[in-house]
Amino acid sequence: MTITALGERALIARLRARMPPPPDWVLTGIGDDAAVLQPERGMVDVVTTDALVEDIHFRRGWSAPEDIGHKALAVNLSDLAAMGAAPRALLLSLALPESLPLDDFDRILDGFLALAALTRIRLVGGNITRSPGPLVIDVTAIGVARPRRILRRSGAHPGDRLFVTGHLGAAATGLALRGSGVDLAGLDADRRACVSKYDRPDARLRTGQIVAHNRAASACMDLSDGLADALTQVAEASGCGVEILGDALPLHPGVLDWAAATGADARGLALSGGEDYELLFAVPKRRTRLFLAAIRQAGETTVTDIGVCTKERMTCVVAGDVRADLPAGFSHF
Ligand SMILES: [Mg+2]
Repeated sequence: MTITALGERALIARLRARMPPPPDWVLTGIGDDAAVLQPERGMVDVVTTDALVEDIHFRRGWSAPEDIGHKALAVNLSDLAAMGAAPRALLLSLALPESLPLDDFDRILDGFLALAALTRIRLVGGNITRSPGPLVIDVTAIGVARPRRILRRSGAHPGDRLFVTGHLGAAATGLALRGSGVDLAGLDADRRACVSKYDRPDARLRTGQIVAHNRAASACMDLSDGLADALTQVAEASGCGVEILGDALPLHPGVLDWAAATGADARGLALSGGEDYELLFAVPKRRTRLFLAAIRQAGETTVTDIGVCTKERMTCVVAGDVRADLPAGFSHF
């Protein structure tokens, strides 16, 4: 059975039936022309949007519908995390091919709504339309933050250390593994972790919020299009340069395995590979201990010191005696 058998109104009713009762700050939720939300006193709204497009960001033949739903929300939560905002409300716009099985629709919502419940973000509205081509999941996420604690890309200063959370290159390796057609059931744990990082990334929400709350970083950005891209953007926005220690990059063990087996460039995957959804922080030297304490308090992941912000407006990576310009990140066009 496909979604066409039900039609738009029945699909919306099906979605509404699965939602928990709205909190009192949702003055008007799904079902009117627009949602009406009571602002939180003393807080500002932090608003972001990101769409997942079939065959660009995911393939229905590769990823389970639950994972596609999860990822559509996670990439937006990652943007809130990078600003230090707490998740609050969501809008979901779906463009669905007529041939989409109803079971896939339900399973996309399974992944989406499970992550929404876990991160306490409320779906307050949206739209369902027909797509003549790919499946598109377009999400708008609204977070709240104290105005003076927001983390921006533009706050870094020369001398600030650069830290990155977790490991790098895992999602790019997961994508390569999926593309290689290998039997995923036969993979070792490290490579399986790379595939699952690609299919089902998690946002570093607690880390972003606790670092922001403690004012422990001067700048932050999430790694959606790769570390090199994030470093370049933070440097440009902050009017400084960056010098990265190539040997310090925390490569995921699955990346090293994959590189050893195929001759792929592990460091290149870590620098240019997209979709890791880790966080890059600039941290003033005097805040380093406060920052590390915040990371421990968040308890989500480790951080690695990968370099420094410079006065000279260069973006380079140093390994031994070799100094090279940062490679470009993933570009959508
Ligand atoms: Mg971002």
